[in-house]
Amino acid sequence: MTLNLKAKIYNDEDAARAHLEAIQWPDGPVCPHCGVVNEATLLAGKSTRPGVYKCRPCQKPFSVTVGSVFERSKVPLTKWLLATELLTSSKKGISAHQISRMLGVTYKTAWFMMHRIREAMAPKDGSEPPLGGDGFVVEADETYIGKKDGPKGRKAPGAGGAGHKRTVLSLVERGGKIRSFKLGAPTAGEIKAKIHTNVDPTSTLHTDGSQVYKGYLRVESHESVDHKSEYVRPGKSEKVHTNSAEGFFSVFKRGMVGTYQHCGEQHLQRYLAEFDFRMNNRIALGVDDTMRAVKALEGINGKRLTYRRINAA
Ligand SMILES: [Zn+2]
Repeated sequence: MTLNLKAKIYNDEDAARAHLEAIQWPDGPVCPHCGVVNEATLLAGKSTRPGVYKCRPCQKPFSVTVGSVFERSKVPLTKWLLATELLTSSKKGISAHQISRMLGVTYKTAWFMMHRIREAMAPKDGSEPPLGGDGFVVEADETYIGKKDGPKGRKAPGAGGAGHKRTVLSLVERGGKIRSFKLGAPTAGEIKAKIHTNVDPTSTLHTDGSQVYKGYLRVESHESVDHKSEYVRPGKSEKVHTNSAEGFFSVFKRGMVGTYQHCGEQHLQRYLAEFDFRMNNRIALGVDDTMRAVKALEGINGKRLTYRRINAA
């Protein structure tokens, strides 16, 4: 689908707000203060900003961006929606310089917007079911990105090999979803903890021959491939390889080098969330560019709202 820059939601603030409200509030306005659904009145006075509602039960005002990553921003919603569309549809990401030029905002504003949108793309803790399951293959693989932050021009003591780089672990359900993590150190303990939390124990785990995966007990079946001599070998049921994870690393690295020119260590997890998000909402899984942007907009609300219906209470 072609991006229609003339679409109303990118040009008309009321249309942009209505679009966001429809995504955030499918059952009517949700009060961010008390959690009540569809019990608010739209304020229409001349002195009121457009899109402000007043909650009847708690009497507090709110709009669709309260409690979201767009809150307190002076950037119009039309620009937020366009930036979200551009970031979610660009396979290798899009730079803050490019967004700054396309939206007519400063570089600093563009940079800030992009990080807010990445936050919206990140999965909420514990909201996703574990990867894999009985009859499913999950690949686990690590890679190394850039250098750890340290004094400029000086190697950290003991640095060398992969030790001075940042480690990324990706867990991929073959043909399905991915979850990537920035690790403090590529230690067996940390990797195993991530697998325990994120992979269904009845899955078959495919890894390389690295020692960190040795003696892996929780996952039912573990098959590894030795990269020194072979890249794919026949497993019990399916070929043993980590090609899905490696394919993802290749896209991620090209994006980080070509588009983002690397990033500070403190931001790495957010960039991983961005690339995971596009992978998890790809065409092959039935998600087109428009749906992908909607999914990101669904995630702008970081607060865990306790939805409450007035008549159910
Ligand atoms: Zn309320």
